[in-house]
Amino acid sequence: MTAVTRFAPSPTGFLHMGHAYSALFAKSAAKDGRFLVRIEDIDRGRCRPAFETAIFEDLAWLGLQWEAPVRRQSDHFAEYGEALDRLDKRGLLYPCFCTRADIQREVAEAASAPHLITHGPDGPIYPGTCRHLSKSEQHRRRDAGTPYALRLNMAEALAIAGPLTWCDETHGIVAATPEIFGDVVLARKDITASYHLACTWDDALQGVNLVTRGEDLLPATHIHRLLQALWDLPVPHYRHHALLTGPDGKKFSKRDQAPTLRALREAGKSAEDVLAEIKVRE
Ligand code: GLU
Repeated sequence: MTAVTRFAPSPTGFLHMGHAYSALFAKSAAKDGRFLVRIEDIDRGRCRPAFETAIFEDLAWLGLQWEAPVRRQSDHFAEYGEALDRLDKRGLLYPCFCTRADIQREVAEAASAPHLITHGPDGPIYPGTCRHLSKSEQHRRRDAGTPYALRLNMAEALAIAGPLTWCDETHGIVAATPEIFGDVVLARKDITASYHLACTWDDALQGVNLVTRGEDLLPATHIHRLLQALWDLPVPHYRHHALLTGPDGKKFSKRDQAPTLRALREAGKSAEDVLAEIKVRE
């Protein structure tokens, strides 16, 4: 089967060596198949057009070629809305009006009951407060203009989907445990989508059959696998790669002020220098 891979950066800053590694990893995993670039810019408050332009310049400088057209997620909010509707129609979503402070307070209270698991890969697990609101209370708050997120009712979703696995080319067959996230947010208060929603939807829509990305995103795959089951989407293979570390042993993606490809270029480095540096660090 022809491999279809993608590199899916968010234009929130300039690309650094960690991104270069990830992009090259995806390109090489495609072999003689198709390599796509997707701009994940649903968080418009943090994304900038100048960073998007810079992504294309930097990838071209590295010698990468990708297929046109590039999918830009901020052009597709209507589609993400339809994807949400599909889940809503099956009663799998509920509006959550809680503020961050509400959640922190509830989690702190729940933490005093030691048998409860209160933290997941993304931080505190939502204690489910708004899951119990009546329909009329939901309407009352919506009508009053109280901002809300949309959460997935995890227990219901799991009951429908049943046990799931995915094939990770690094880790083998992995049993999906999306419940470690609790009732995950699928549409944020300020953005009518979320990374999990848009990424899962787009990977299927674009025919990506091999998802490559850093292992920091491995836990996210548990949710993506569940969403694929709920939407009845094809299931790609996954290959999560270790994160590239700098000379100080710290991960590029986690470092503040990691040198950008742009800065390296301006300092006189060639693309070959960067590629050689990546080979050494791999
Ligand atoms: N947009 C994500 C990031 O920049 C990558 C998402 C993915 O590869 O699934 O970290």
